[in-house]
Amino acid sequence: MSNIARGPSKIALRPSSSDLPRASSTAPLRPSTSDPSRSPTLAPARSPASASFHALGARPSADVDVAGPSQHQIGAKTLATPLVTAPYAKAHLRLLAAFKALRTAVEDNAGARLPEMVAGLDAARRWAWFVGLAVDRFECWADSVKPGSLRSWVRTQLPPLDVLMVWHAYMLNPRWYAEDCERLPLMKTLKGLGDRLLPAVIVAGDPATYQPTRERRMSWLADTGTHWDPLEASRDMTHRRVTCPKCAQDIETPYMTRDGTGYAQRTFAVTCPSCRLTVRKAALGLAKFADDLVSDHETPHVGFGVYLAGTLHTEAKTTDEDHATRIKNALIRSKALRSRTQITRAQWRQEILEKFNYSIAALPAAVSLLLLDGGGRRIVNRILSAYTDDRPFSIDLVGAVIRQGSFIEKMHSFGWTQADFFDAPQDEVVLVHAITRYHA
Ligand SMILES: [Zn+2]
Repeated sequence: MSNIARGPSKIALRPSSSDLPRASSTAPLRPSTSDPSRSPTLAPARSPASASFHALGARPSADVDVAGPSQHQIGAKTLATPLVTAPYAKAHLRLLAAFKALRTAVEDNAGARLPEMVAGLDAARRWAWFVGLAVDRFECWADSVKPGSLRSWVRTQLPPLDVLMVWHAYMLNPRWYAEDCERLPLMKTLKGLGDRLLPAVIVAGDPATYQPTRERRMSWLADTGTHWDPLEASRDMTHRRVTCPKCAQDIETPYMTRDGTGYAQRTFAVTCPSCRLTVRKAALGLAKFADDLVSDHETPHVGFGVYLAGTLHTEAKTTDEDHATRIKNALIRSKALRSRTQITRAQWRQEILEKFNYSIAALPAAVSLLLLDGGGRRIVNRILSAYTDDRPFSIDLVGAVIRQGSFIEKMHSFGWTQADFFDAPQDEVVLVHAITRYHA
C-alpha cells in the first residue's frame, strides 16, 4: 500500500450511444426538497448556453423555496429563472466549511498525524502536497465509482471529503469538466452521475462529520488501495507510479523528497532505471500530448479520446468533432509534427518526443503559427494547458483546488460557512442573492 495505481489508458472505445445520456434542455426539472436527486445545483455545463459561467448553485427550475431576483444577469446573459435555492446553497456552504476545516487540519498538522517528511514544510507547501494526493485518490475513485440511485449511492459510493473537494473544484471548470466527461473513458461514470454532488451532500448530512459504514470503508480501501480517512491515507501514500515516456518502464517515484524532486513537488525529476531518461512533468506532458496526437481519429467510432484536449467542446457544441478534427489535422500536417511515411504510430510518437527533447516547453513556438486563422495562439495555449503532466485530466486539479480555497476563505471570513448562519428566512434571501451575484 505504498503507492496507488495509475489510471487507465486515456484512449478507449467510444461508448455506445445508449451510454451517452443527454441532459434535456427543454424538459423542466421540478425538484422537491424531499428528492434532492432531482435538483442539480452544482452543474457541469452541459449545453453551450451554460458554458460561459460556472454553475455553482445553479439550477434550471423556477421552483424555488426562497424567491431570488426575478432575472439574473450572468455575464452577458440574462436568465429568467432563479439560479439557487437556500437548501442547496446551505449544503454548498456546509461543504465549503468542511473543505476549510480539512485544509486547516493539514496546515496545522494538529495531532501530528501527517508524515514526518511533510511536518517541516510551510503550510502552503504542505497543503499542495496533500491536494496532490487527493487528486490521485480522486482518479482512483473516478475509475471505480459505480452509478446508482441517490440514497444507496451515498451509502456505497460517496468518496471521502478530500475527493469531494477535488470533484467540486473540477466541476467549477465546467467547460473542461464537460469535455473531459466526453473525452476520457475514466470519466464515463461521473458523466452519468451529472449533478450528484450537492444532492449527495444533502443526503449525507454534514460532510465534516460524515462517517461511512464499515462496509464502505472496506470497499473504499479495496477500490483505491488507500484508507478512507485522508490524513491516515496520506501516511501510506509515499510513492506513485509514472511511466517512462521513452521506454515505457513503470517507475515508482516518491511524492516527496528532501531535495524537492518528488512528484508532489515543484521540481519533480526521476531518473528512469531502465533507459536513464530524466523524467520531468514536461516530459510526461509531452508524452500525453503525443499519445493524443498520434491516436487514429479517422477510423469511425473510436471515441472522443482521439481528439486533443480543448478542441472538442466549443461555444457552439458540446462535442464539436468537425472543430476537433480541423485542429488535429492542422497539427498533424504541420512540418513540426507530421509523420514520415511508412512508420508506425508508436514510432511517430517517439519521433515527436525526441524532436522536442522530452519537453512540452518547446512545443508552443513550433505550433502556434499554424492556427493563426482560427484564433491560433489562444487555441494553442488552451490545448497545451491540458498537457502539463501525466494525469488524465485536462486541467491542473491541484491548482484548481488551491484556487478555490480563496473563495472559501472569503465565505468563511463573512461567517457564512458557520452552521446556522443562514437560518433566518431573511438571511436566506441574502444568501440566494449573494450567490447569484457570485455567478455574474
Ligand atoms: Zn525509460
